[in-house]
Amino acid sequence: NYMPMGLRVIRKVEAIIREEMNRAGAVELLMPVVQPAELWQETGRFQQMGPELLRVKDRHDRSFIIQPTSEEVITDIARQELRSYKQLPRNFYHIQTKFRDERRPRFGVMRGREFTMKDAYSFDRDREGAARSYDAMFAAYKRIFDRFGLQYRAVAADTGAIGGDLSHEFQVIADTGEDAIVYCPQSEYAANIELAEALPPGARPEAREAMSKVATPDRSTCADVAALLGIPLQRTVKSLVLASDEKDPTTGDIVSTQVWMLLVRGDHELNEVKAGKVPGLAGGWRFATVAEIESHFGCKPGYLGPIDMAGSVKVVADRTVAAMSDFVCGANEADFHLAGVNWGRDLPEPELVADIRNVLAGEPSPDGKGTLAIQRGIEVGHVFYLGTKYSSAMNATYLDESGKPQLMEMGCYGIGVTRILGAAIEQNHDERGIIWPTAIAPFEVVVCPIGYDRSAEVRAAADALHEQLLAGGIDVVLDDRGERPGAMFADWELIGVPLRVVISDRGLKAGTAELQGRREAQAGTIVVSEAADRVKERLAAARA
Ligand code: ATP
Ligand code: MG
Repeated sequence: NYMPMGLRVIRKVEAIIREEMNRAGAVELLMPVVQPAELWQETGRFQQMGPELLRVKDRHDRSFIIQPTSEEVITDIARQELRSYKQLPRNFYHIQTKFRDERRPRFGVMRGREFTMKDAYSFDRDREGAARSYDAMFAAYKRIFDRFGLQYRAVAADTGAIGGDLSHEFQVIADTGEDAIVYCPQSEYAANIELAEALPPGARPEAREAMSKVATPDRSTCADVAALLGIPLQRTVKSLVLASDEKDPTTGDIVSTQVWMLLVRGDHELNEVKAGKVPGLAGGWRFATVAEIESHFGCKPGYLGPIDMAGSVKVVADRTVAAMSDFVCGANEADFHLAGVNWGRDLPEPELVADIRNVLAGEPSPDGKGTLAIQRGIEVGHVFYLGTKYSSAMNATYLDESGKPQLMEMGCYGIGVTRILGAAIEQNHDERGIIWPTAIAPFEVVVCPIGYDRSAEVRAAADALHEQLLAGGIDVVLDDRGERPGAMFADWELIGVPLRVVISDRGLKAGTAELQGRREAQAGTIVVSEAADRVKERLAAARA
């Protein structure tokens, strides 16, 4: 349920998005929530999307889906409506209910199954045109997030199978965010950690130690082994076992399985998106089961290493690991590790070397212009170049000047309308409650009369101010409940209305009222007859 205060915020968020989308030349339409399965079968996503896609049947046993997004329907519209190059470029959007049967719905509006999204889709003649549409949306998104009054960062994001560099996420900065964003304070560089490159380290140092087998009973993590041996964690290597299954294209049955060993330094973390780009793993991978590990290595997890690998296992070393010498790894024997291990001497040089780990704060920026920092963010928007992925699957073509059919180049652009509320609150709150930015607050100002139920003067002054503000186009609410001040103030601080005017008998006797911003510790005294003007000035300043 979107309750009244929250719904007011949603409406304001939508209004800002609508204004800026229209300003950028996008055109609003509305597509159905319940969509025919046939369109989703054309692109193959009816099968591919798995359980996140909610499928339903009608009384005639025909299949439908509840839209998680609308590429299929918009491409169907485009192939019917956009026939000539003269009709391009075009950008359509709608603000509509989405449903995704998320594996882990959580934190209310942050990751709901039902939520509201603004999704836009651009259609262009060629790649250059699509890049222009993309840039226009990128600029519109910046205006939208500026107007929300939120602190955010646009970061480069993974483009998956589409490739190229036209994918950015808009991340609201918040410590509780799900995403790690990597940026360079000295330059413009900003990327999701999924994408951010860890630059190759310097040359591998000379080997100095002989390889030796060391007993490490019950020490199955790199940290435990490093502690036992009294060495830094940076000297250890972690072995992760993955599997890629080759499936029969018609039956979907697994016909063969390749086992992989991925090596990252003990203090580093595997980056699953980067791992998914390693040749051979790009078709999809999973972590190997304990049974698979034991049958391939004859050893339980925790004591694995790249030494004496049977040819059947493919080894991928992270760039950092490939440049290590005298390292410690598992001995492929329970309760033992190997120390002083060296590439080329104790085991063959790694056949595959790739960047497969997360970067750390303090490492050099990939643009060569400084040092990386990391902060947490909440993804609230995504702009993405699609190319001809959907137009080719659904044969959405236009006729060019010479009358030849050409595939349309597409882009898609989403904003999580309802997630914005959660993100705004995560970023802006204190122990007393929410602190809404003025532009999306449920009300801009609350008039709090003390003794509304018992003082005629207070009631008259509060009503007059309320009327005056309404007439001035201010989004004001009058608290006419006659609550005691403490309870009344606490309620509005919890709700997070950015500005409060207090009217009391005592103030009226002196011709004054109190004006206080939600972030301010102290109220200011204003002349009650000028209260409306003072409020308008404050709101104008907040908008600027
Ligand atoms: P996530 O990685 O968070 O699952 P996504 O990549 O699936 O997001 P998109 O398909 O790009 O998201 O959707 C566009 C926007 O819709 C996202 O940027 C996000 O703000 C919002 N969104 C996606 N899933 C949800 C959800 N379950 N609840 C609320 N908002 C969502
Ligand atoms: Mg998702």
